[in-house]
Amino acid sequence: MPLKQTHWLSILVQTPVHSKLSQALTYQSPVALAPGALVRVTLGTRELLGVVWQVLKEAPPEMLSRDGKAVEIKPISADLGLTPLSDTWRQFISFAAIYYQRSLGEVALSALPPQLRTLDATQMQRRLKKQVKSNTTIDPNTGEIKPVNNENEYLATSVKLTSQQLTVLADMDSHDGPFLLYGATGSGKTEVYLQAANKVLQSDKKAQVLMMVPEINLTPQLEERVRERFCPLFGDDAVVSMHSGMTNPQRLKSWLAAHDGRARIVLGTRMAIFASMPHLNLIVVDEEHDPSYKSQDGARYSARDLAVYRGKLDNAKVILGSATPSFESWHHSQSGAETQGRYKRLSMLDRVGSSALPEVVLVNMAHQPKKTVVSPPLLAAIAERIRRGEQSIIFLNRRGYAPVLHCADCGWKSECPHCSAYRVFHKIDRTLRCHHCGFTERVPRACPACGNTDINPIGRGTEQLEEHLADLLRDVKRPNGEAVRIARIDADSTKLKGALQQQLAQVHAGEVDVLVGTQMIAKGHDFRNITLVAAVNPDTALFSSDFRAPERLFALLMQAAGRAGRDAAQGGQSEMWIQTQHPQHPLYIALKKHDYAGFAKTQLKDREAAMMSPFGYSALVRAEARTQEVAQAFLNTARETILAQAKSDNGSQNDMLQLVSVYGAVPMSMQRIANVERAQMLIESSSRKALQQFLQQWQTVLHKTPAKGIIRWAVDVDPLVI
Ligand code: ADP
Ligand code: ZN
Ligand code: ZN
Repeated sequence: MPLKQTHWLSILVQTPVHSKLSQALTYQSPVALAPGALVRVTLGTRELLGVVWQVLKEAPPEMLSRDGKAVEIKPISADLGLTPLSDTWRQFISFAAIYYQRSLGEVALSALPPQLRTLDATQMQRRLKKQVKSNTTIDPNTGEIKPVNNENEYLATSVKLTSQQLTVLADMDSHDGPFLLYGATGSGKTEVYLQAANKVLQSDKKAQVLMMVPEINLTPQLEERVRERFCPLFGDDAVVSMHSGMTNPQRLKSWLAAHDGRARIVLGTRMAIFASMPHLNLIVVDEEHDPSYKSQDGARYSARDLAVYRGKLDNAKVILGSATPSFESWHHSQSGAETQGRYKRLSMLDRVGSSALPEVVLVNMAHQPKKTVVSPPLLAAIAERIRRGEQSIIFLNRRGYAPVLHCADCGWKSECPHCSAYRVFHKIDRTLRCHHCGFTERVPRACPACGNTDINPIGRGTEQLEEHLADLLRDVKRPNGEAVRIARIDADSTKLKGALQQQLAQVHAGEVDVLVGTQMIAKGHDFRNITLVAAVNPDTALFSSDFRAPERLFALLMQAAGRAGRDAAQGGQSEMWIQTQHPQHPLYIALKKHDYAGFAKTQLKDREAAMMSPFGYSALVRAEARTQEVAQAFLNTARETILAQAKSDNGSQNDMLQLVSVYGAVPMSMQRIANVERAQMLIESSSRKALQQFLQQWQTVLHKTPAKGIIRWAVDVDPLVI
């Protein structure tokens, strides 16, 4: 009779963020399992999903009884029967957990599709059987994936590439990257991604490609383009999506297809960076400058930055693409000793075809009557487009611009009683709503402070702008003599599922003359007949306390301008209008010349002088409590502890602290949300390594700091907003 063998496994499970159990737990198994295997285990009374992290040679010593036999190590409940996650996937997760200061268990388990956590082994097997009936077959001998329909030859497109596209593609062949593809809006970047993907997929029958976009709901067009191009070649299963708009069963289905190699292209938002892709060969990060790549809760990771790391681990090429790269990526792609040209910059400065970039027109609002919302010259330009049967986009940044109710007599404003924010006036249902905590009330008949019945909105929201424009344009007729058609797209108008797609389809179909909206309409859409784009009041972002505000505003306006005049057939010159009180501001001067590089240069110089990103590194610790004092005291106590530790230890800790500055706790700029007070503490260093070393110890100190009254705390490494 063969000896029954025991295998000791160290297994990760989902554990609460600050629990003591944040590292792997030990279990035993009667059968050997490889690292990366997915299993079910019991923890207390619950049964959980676990990831085998390591196979131990023997039971951990503290778990051995005196006679050397193991005690009380529970057996796993079941093996889910999936192919184990790859070594590089596990290395990648480890890196992300350490770098972003989270527990391994949390990062590993939240990188897996939620439904995987709930299925037992039997359900899993049923699911896998269902998956197999697809239109691809896996060759049992070679493991090759064969599309059913493989008569199609290489190059599924009739597009004749432009010379700059060809140059860029050739450079991508002859260098390892990572690449920063710096290409004007409409220069054909997407086509480059598709060509690069095609090449990889054709040259290796197993190769997989990950394509990331900032907001997949706003870019169904990319998905369509990718499907159109690759499904005929590799089968309908070859392209899968991964984003938070999908149901849990859909997400699991995509994940499994990527994990077993059937999916050759994964198209997703930032979460897709954690997809299990055993044959990952190429990663594309489109609109790499977009802040949505940085997660704002849980592990606050940057999918863009992680893409570069994952590319290195998986030996996959990485393409970061943008018309307005983040200044970090721009800096890293500069040749020179300082950055060692970490990324290879490839430029495509011209638009495809003869369509020129729009002319930027600045309207000096200081010369307009005080309360002007849409200046007469802008209005005339919009009217002109309507008469010609062309379309216009008018947008405003919502931030700081939503309509707040105001009493001119006593100065009352519609503050939220639970947050440090004003409630916003919604005309449709005559309510005041807090956009932070959701607190909603009917609009009062009179000022709650002084009884004045004449209370009015200050600032203008999209709703009002739409109304105002309808009023101003009521006499303007379309070429066929009909009245102008105005539509609005913003978070409110698109709440219902599918509403955004439907509204965008109307714009595409030419059923809308003037589109009013928030910056959500400025991003990524490939509108054909738009010849005028206007930013009504972008100035608010010029004088922000956030050092990245100018970078963001510039990117937003460049992107918005990119919506205009994409159709070369249009002929006429398209225009980008900007209403500003500061037409001489360097940002607008640079914008007028479409001079991203010049603007980046001056901004980077300022940042270098101030040792800000990318010249310095930072992290924030945030704490939340019922009172501001409690939140700040927690942070300040932790700070004193680590400074005292460093002082008493004259060795390496002290050296490390020389390179790191820890500032005192301050209230966050959104200080209060839903009656919770928020405080933060900034940590800066000129050295990434020193900052990382510091954060490791800091984490231990934070865990030991008395946290009475603290609701939660978290570390944000490389924060986007300070
Ligand atoms: P970007 O991603 O840089 O904004 P796209 O790849 O979307 O640019 O290209 C802009 C438009 O030009 C798209 O409609 C695309 O189909 C078209 N296009 C791209 N490359 C070519 C080409 N080589 N020849 C003709 N049209 C092209
Ligand atoms: Zn009043
Ligand atoms: Zn509120």
